Amino acid sequence: MSKLNITPVSQSKINTVDFNDLPFGNVFSDHMFSCDFKDGKWQNPTISEYAPLTLDPSARVFHYGQAVFEGMKAFKDENDDIYLFRPEDNFERINKSAHRLAMPEFPKDFFFEGLEQLLLLEKEWIKKGDGNSLYIRPFVIATQGALSASPADEYKFMIICSPARSYYAGEVRVIFAEEYSRSASGGVGFAKAAGNYAAQFYPTSLAHKEGYQQVIWTDAKSHEYLEEAGTMNIFFRINNTLITAPISDRILDGITRKSVIQLAKDNKIDVEVRRVSVTEIKDAAKNGSLKEIFGSGTAAVINPILGFKHSDFKHELPVMEDSYAKFFKKTLNEIQYNKTEDKHNWRHKVSK
Ligand SMILES: *Cc1c(COP(=O)(O)O)cnc(C)c1O
Repeated sequence: MSKLNITPVSQSKINTVDFNDLPFGNVFSDHMFSCDFKDGKWQNPTISEYAPLTLDPSARVFHYGQAVFEGMKAFKDENDDIYLFRPEDNFERINKSAHRLAMPEFPKDFFFEGLEQLLLLEKEWIKKGDGNSLYIRPFVIATQGALSASPADEYKFMIICSPARSYYAGEVRVIFAEEYSRSASGGVGFAKAAGNYAAQFYPTSLAHKEGYQQVIWTDAKSHEYLEEAGTMNIFFRINNTLITAPISDRILDGITRKSVIQLAKDNKIDVEVRRVSVTEIKDAAKNGSLKEIFGSGTAAVINPILGFKHSDFKHELPVMEDSYAKFFKKTLNEIQYNKTEDKHNWRHKVSK
């Protein structure tokens, strides 16, 4: 492994940033990590000033969408120690995504050394206090310039960071998909592939026009089973039972999702991982047993959903006193900010 080359900036731009006004993902920290795949190996790991890239216009990422990414967060506790949440899972997942897109896997030592050195350089960008974090975006793109429609021989792995406040997605009401699909069996739905997002923008914009913020994707074959929100996994609470769809090659294996399932078990909340049909949820809405719907994902942690629509049927969810959404958000945050015991070893301390 070649040595990590670090060139710190001479002056931080942190004083130009208003930490009280941080729209998600608009401001980036001083440095970025990059590493190139060339001649069959990853090389030249570098931390340098956050800056635009120069790429050949024929780079395959632009034409064939060979690109995958991850989303994770760093948190600071009251002693100024920095923690990541289950980062090994992000590492494994980016390689699983890369593998599906015929991209080379990234070495674990490069990933953790690059990430931790970058976070130590950016420690002033990680603010203490509830809701504050540094959002971390690792990604890989095919940089080789050549238009043949085949996997590239050259790639760039990068990590960029964006300071984040508590992410409030606003009021979220959703449409259950009846026509469009996000993913299909045998496809790339389980991968954090850039193109999965591009494919959702248009149907989501149609939902916006009707006053709904997001689409809950259903299975592409029958549109009868509820799968995920496309940036979040999805949970339904019927009476006191939590239900979420099993992961498959159409659904992303969310780290927040599996943490919620574990926390439900730890706290004696009944949780069922099984197919959930649109009919079941509509029936539960009609008979009053549907108590909550919420999404889970790194950015928002837990995002309550206030209502849904499916063909002509519209439903507003009740306001729950003891909401599971609130409980899981609080419990996850307490682990993330090192305020409570971490019995599953989910916290990863970034060593100084
Ligand atoms: C990232 C992502 C999620 C959430 O995963 P987390 O690991 O919990 O952040 C859910 N669905 C899709 C499609 C995603 O890309």
